Amino acid sequence: MVMSQCAKCSKCCRNVSIEVDEPSDDKEIDEYVWIIMHENIRLYIEEDKWYLEILTPCKMLEDDRQCSIYADRPEVCREYETENCLKNGDEDYFDVLFTNPGELKAYWKEHYEDIEEDENPSPGV
Ligand code: SF4
Ligand code: SF4
Repeated sequence: MVMSQCAKCSKCCRNVSIEVDEPSDDKEIDEYVWIIMHENIRLYIEEDKWYLEILTPCKMLEDDRQCSIYADRPEVCREYETENCLKNGDEDYFDVLFTNPGELKAYWKEHYEDIEEDENPSPGV
């Protein structure tokens, strides 16, 4: 969070995104299904990379939505730019968002079937 335009916002201080491996089989997708069964956890895909997102406010955020350690905030906070941030950006930060097991299973089924078809082409193909 930076600059005066961030005052009273704090949107970007309320989640954590961690890049994770793209699932490659039913066992891995089952683990991701289990993960997003938990409150305040989502998965999303952005530019072919998979991310685990935890919706939780930073402990350094004060009640007035100001950063309590602004001068010493981590580099990741300093590098985050307001131009295309959660508040000012025109587009979603994800290409695909999974908020519940059903969405993830449906995506996986569709994706897995594509792989199956590619790996098992029809006779004569
Ligand atoms: S979402 Fe944008 S405007 Fe809001 S605090 Fe973060 S950088 Fe500032
Ligand atoms: S350290 Fe400060 S700027 Fe960084 S996420 Fe926490 S409250 Fe926001």
